Amino acid sequence: MKRSADPLPGTAALGPTDRDLLEGVLAAQPRALAKAITLVESTRADHQRRAQALLQALLPRAGGAIRIGISGAPGVGKSTFVEALGLHVVEAGHRIAVLAVDPSSALSGGSILGDKTRMEQLARSTQAYIRPSPSAGTLGGVAARTRECLLVCEAAGFDVIVVETVGVGQSETAVAGMTDAFVLLQLPNAGDDLQAMKKGIVELADLIVINKADLDPQGALRAQSQLESVLPVLQHRTPGWAPKVLMASALQRQRIDEFWRQIGRFRESMQASGEFETRRSAQAVDWMWDTIERTLRERFDSSAAVRRELPALVAAVRQGSLAATVAAQRLLALAGS
Ligand code: GDP
Repeated sequence: MKRSADPLPGTAALGPTDRDLLEGVLAAQPRALAKAITLVESTRADHQRRAQALLQALLPRAGGAIRIGISGAPGVGKSTFVEALGLHVVEAGHRIAVLAVDPSSALSGGSILGDKTRMEQLARSTQAYIRPSPSAGTLGGVAARTRECLLVCEAAGFDVIVVETVGVGQSETAVAGMTDAFVLLQLPNAGDDLQAMKKGIVELADLIVINKADLDPQGALRAQSQLESVLPVLQHRTPGWAPKVLMASALQRQRIDEFWRQIGRFRESMQASGEFETRRSAQAVDWMWDTIERTLRERFDSSAAVRRELPALVAAVRQGSLAATVAAQRLLALAGS
C-alpha cells in the first residue's frame, strides 16, 4: 500500500526519523517514548528544534489525561502514595505516568525519583511509566521540560499523569500550574502546627491527604478536623470546589480508592463548571509567557557582549558611580545587539 506523504496532520515539519518517532510515541512503544523524552529534555539547540516540531505534532493528540500534582515535605510518603495510587489505577485499567519536578535537582544534579528502588513494584508494570526529574538547569527549565514530557506521555495514551514535587521553594506553584488537581500530603500531626503550614500552599490544594494515618489514627482525625475548620476561611484556587481533607495509609494501601473517587468527583465538578477548560487554556498561555521569560533570560546570560561588560558595570553599580537602572539598560541593549 502506498504511504501517503503526510500520514498524520501536523507532521510536515518533521524529518523521517522524527516521523517514525512520532508514530512510535502514538503507538505507546516504550523505546520511542524514552527517545522522545530524551529529545525533549535535551538542551542542545538542534535537539530543541526537533523537540518543538515533535511537540507541535503531538499536541492535538494530548490533553486526554487527568493531571494530578502531588506535594509534601520529604518523608511524608509521596513516593509510597504515588506507587499505591499507581497500582490502584492500573488495576482499574488505566495507564499512569509519574513525572517529577525537583527543585534540588536543579542545583545539585540529583533527583527525587532518581533512586531506582522507589516505586519498584509500579515500575515493573507495563502500564506505568516513571520518569525522574531532569537534573540540569534552573527550576524554570526543569518545570518546562516536565510539562513537555507530560504532553508526550499524554499523546502516548497515559490517561493518569502524576507530577510529584517536594514541598519546598516555588516548585509547588510550578506543579500546580501544570496540573488539574493539586494534592498536598500531610502527616497526622499537621493540625498541631497549622501556623507553620504555608497558607499559600494550602490555598493551592484541591485535596489534602493526611498520610500515615495507620501510625496515629487519633492524630489523623484531629488533623482532619482542624484542617476542615480552617479551610473555609482560606481562599481556594478552584471555583465551585470545596477542598477535601482525606486520610490514607500509603504503606498499607488504605483509602487509596477513596482518594481516587475524590479525584473523579473533582474532575466531574470542574468539567461541569467549565473550569477544566478554563484552567487548561490559562495554563497554556502562562506556559507561553514562562517560555518567553526563560528564553530572554537565557539569551541575556549567553550574550558574549553582556559577559564582557558585566563585571565592570556591576562594580560601578556597587560603588555607586553608576545608577542601577542605567547599568540595566546598557546591559539589555548589549544583549539585544
Ligand atoms: P517521600 O520522601 O515523601 O517520597 O516519602 P517516602 O514515600 O519515601 O516515605 C518515607 C517513609 O515513610 C518510608 O519509610 C515509607 O515506608 C514510610 N511511609 C510512607 N507512607 C506510609 C504510611 O502510610 N504509613 C507508614 N506507617 N509509613 C509510611
